[in-house]
Amino acid sequence: MRPLFIILLSVFVLSQGRSQSHLTLIYTGSNNNVAGAVQKANEILNSTSFYEQIRKIAKFDHSSLTGQQVADRMQSASQQIRVVRKIKPIANASTKTSDKIKISRSLFGLDSTGKFVLSIAVNTLIHETVHAVDFLNTGSEFTHDGNRSDGQENTAPWMIGDIAERMVLENR
Ligand SMILES: [Zn+2]
Repeated sequence: MRPLFIILLSVFVLSQGRSQSHLTLIYTGSNNNVAGAVQKANEILNSTSFYEQIRKIAKFDHSSLTGQQVADRMQSASQQIRVVRKIKPIANASTKTSDKIKISRSLFGLDSTGKFVLSIAVNTLIHETVHAVDFLNTGSEFTHDGNRSDGQENTAPWMIGDIAERMVLENR
């Protein structure tokens, strides 16, 4: 190959690597609410401002990593994560591996009155995506303690999910 072509190809590959996250949620089901939330979550996972906001967080509860380090883990992750239906819907979602998020069809994205709210659904998907990225290693480096929501608000999954929820609300 000619040197100029190789240089142009390298510049192209590098620029693609910077602009495109390789963290992608995949949903192949037919529920429109879930499909819309997955699309919005993927837009956020490809947004520079999302990672800038994570980088501003100095520390998380239940983690020794900074926002900078967690944002780097998320942006450098090359992972497709399938969003699938949870068989026993005790909680609205759960993630125990790096490649699969399980959501409850009867609870996912619902507010306290039982109405589907996109920003809540996206919060849940991004929260679970943080767990999935954590599971690329041990699954315990930036998580929370148990499934109670009380006292968990300063952990990485809750704080980063909240950033995504606010991004959805502010875009309307
Ligand atoms: Zn969680």
